[in-house]
Amino acid sequence: MLIDAGNNEDSSSVKNYISNQGITKLDYVIGTHPHEDHIGGMDYIINSFKIGKIYMPKATANTKTFRDVVSAIKGKGLKVMAPVVGQTFKVGNATATILAPNSSGYEDLNNFSIVIRLTFGSNSFMFDGDVVDVSENEMLSKGLNISADVLKVGHHGSSSSTTQAFLNKVNPKYAVISCGKNNSYGHPHKSTMNKLKSKGIKVYRTDENGTIVATSDGNNITFNTKSGSYNYAGIGSSASSNSSASSGSSKTRNVPVVVPKSSNNSKIVYYTPSGKSYHFDKNCSTLSRSKTILTGTLREVLSSSHNDHCNVCAEGN
Ligand SMILES: [Zn+2]
Ligand SMILES: [Zn+2]
Repeated sequence: MLIDAGNNEDSSSVKNYISNQGITKLDYVIGTHPHEDHIGGMDYIINSFKIGKIYMPKATANTKTFRDVVSAIKGKGLKVMAPVVGQTFKVGNATATILAPNSSGYEDLNNFSIVIRLTFGSNSFMFDGDVVDVSENEMLSKGLNISADVLKVGHHGSSSSTTQAFLNKVNPKYAVISCGKNNSYGHPHKSTMNKLKSKGIKVYRTDENGTIVATSDGNNITFNTKSGSYNYAGIGSSASSNSSASSGSSKTRNVPVVVPKSSNNSKIVYYTPSGKSYHFDKNCSTLSRSKTILTGTLREVLSSSHNDHCNVCAEGN
C-alpha cells in the first residue's frame, strides 16, 4: 500500500524507493487529498507499477497535477474508489481501516484527507494525511478507534492540526512529521511540538532525519534512525511571525506562519492589487484573469494583506 507520492519533483525518488524494496505491484494506492505535495508523484507511480485499487476522496483540484493523476488513472483503465469510513481491507497480514473523511464537504481541502489506521499484531499506525481540527473532531465525536503506536502527524505539524483532545485519544508512543528543511510554511508549529514534547512522544521528522522507516514485527516497532528534536519552525532565529498564526484553532488554509531567517525571504512573489494570495508562479492559472500583476519579495507580502499563499501554484504543501 502506498499512501501519497510526494511532489511532482519527488516522482523518481518515490518510485526508486519502492522499486528498491523489490516491489512491482501496489495492491492499494491512497491519494489522501488533491494537493500537489501528496499526489504530485502519483501519475508517475501509477504508470511505473502494477496497481490494484486506488482510493481518493470525492474532491477535485483545478491543477495540472490533479489532471495528470486523473489521466494516468484513466490511461490504465483503473477506477477510483471513494473512501467509506469503517471499511477495512487486508494489506498482507495487516488490516487497514478507513477513518475519514466523515463529511461530504469541507471548506478546507485538507479535511478531505483519507485517514487510514493500520494494525499489525498488537501494533497500530495512524496515517492522517493533512487533516486539520475539523476532521479530527469528527473522528472523535464518532467515537472511532484512533489509538495508535505511531501517529503520522496531520498537515506537516501545522498549528491547525493535532488538537490536544485528538492527540490524547491517539496516545501515540511515536510521531512522524513530514516537513521540508527550513520550509516557508512554518512547519512544524511550536504548539504541535510542545504538545508532543509534554507527552514525551518521540518525534521522527523528515527535515532532520531524512527518510524514516518504521518496522513492526507485530509486537515491537523499530526505526531506522534516532528520534529528532522538538524544535519548531523559526526557533533560534528572529523569525517574522504572522499574527493570524498564533491561534491554535485556526481553520484557515495553510498560511505560512513563521518564516525562518534561513528561508529565502527575498524570493520574488506575485499578487494582484485586490487579491489576498501571493503566488510563487507568475503563470499561476489563478492569475491569468488579472490585468495587473504586482511583484514583491516574500518578506514584503507576508506583512501585507496579500499574505495568503496560493493553493494552486504553491498547491497547499
Ligand atoms: Zn494539503
Ligand atoms: Zn500536505
